[in-house]
Amino acid sequence: MTVNMPRQETANSPPLLPATDDFLQKCCDLCGRTSFELIGRLDRKRRELHTSVCTHCGLVAHAEIPSEAELNEFYASDYRREYHQEVTPSDRRVMRAWQGGQRILRQLSPMIEQHQSVFEVGAGIGCTVKSFELAGYDATGIEPGGGFQQFSVDRLHAKVEDQFLLDLPAEPTHDVVLLVHVIEHFRSPRAALEHIRAMLKPGGRLYVECPNLAAPFARRNRMFHFAHIHNFTPTTLIGMARRCGFELLWRHSTDDDPNLQMLLGRTDTVVREVDPDGYRQTMTALSRHGDLGYHLRWKYLWPRAKKLSGYLHEYLTAKQYVERLLQVCEESDTHAHPTDRRQRDAA
Ligand SMILES: [Zn+2]
Repeated sequence: MTVNMPRQETANSPPLLPATDDFLQKCCDLCGRTSFELIGRLDRKRRELHTSVCTHCGLVAHAEIPSEAELNEFYASDYRREYHQEVTPSDRRVMRAWQGGQRILRQLSPMIEQHQSVFEVGAGIGCTVKSFELAGYDATGIEPGGGFQQFSVDRLHAKVEDQFLLDLPAEPTHDVVLLVHVIEHFRSPRAALEHIRAMLKPGGRLYVECPNLAAPFARRNRMFHFAHIHNFTPTTLIGMARRCGFELLWRHSTDDDPNLQMLLGRTDTVVREVDPDGYRQTMTALSRHGDLGYHLRWKYLWPRAKKLSGYLHEYLTAKQYVERLLQVCEESDTHAHPTDRRQRDAA
């Protein structure tokens, strides 16, 4: 079904949420057009959530974009509990996040000089920021989720502040910004990337990682949930980057990987034209696999089996792993700030 109408007018949609930005309610955040096709009515937990694709550029998003105030409240309080049942992170989550941070450090450190600053937007538990700090970088970050941000400061001694991206000054102070599984959460990825671009020094770079809508594992009825307002294919993510004054420097992932991993460079050029094949690519990706074929494919089953055995390993080793990790972080804090530490302990 193709509709030439404002987003909020899709059939059977629930009452409108208050919108602070009329544009977002009517127009595609990537190309600005107003023609959408409804592609889903339920989220991955079978709750009502309408999802649409822009018939011009292929960007997939909620049919109704939630208000900024509603999202801020959601992330500050309900998000962790609703999606992970954790207000403070479990040992398994910390271990997994630390291994993720180490992986990103390994991927990016050959391309970042030691004197350059690294700033993470949506730092989560703070493991990536701390990994870069321990490797010798000036690493800081922001995380609006109260419990996880508190953990990163209190337990990892990472420099992660409780802040929202758009509240930060748009001044060119950073060399490298990390955006790891965050871009899909913004009501306007374009506004977020434009703000990040303004925060980057000339020659600055942005590393983006997010779920890949075009990956073979992706099925329509399992892919959408409220927290992921936009869903990207390789084409729409690159299009969004170019639209916001970035160019693709390096791509770690292929079109089939479950996550997109791209390093973008700040440029002086904004490319408004989108890939004319974007919509077709999105629709092809969405219809690639039916349920049965999806579950029988070795490409799906083998990673699932590895994941399950990984869970067992995590369960058996996480407690010790995190104890050792927290000890390392504690010692790094003592060495870095001996005076502050003594004053804090005395207090
Ligand atoms: Zn569009």
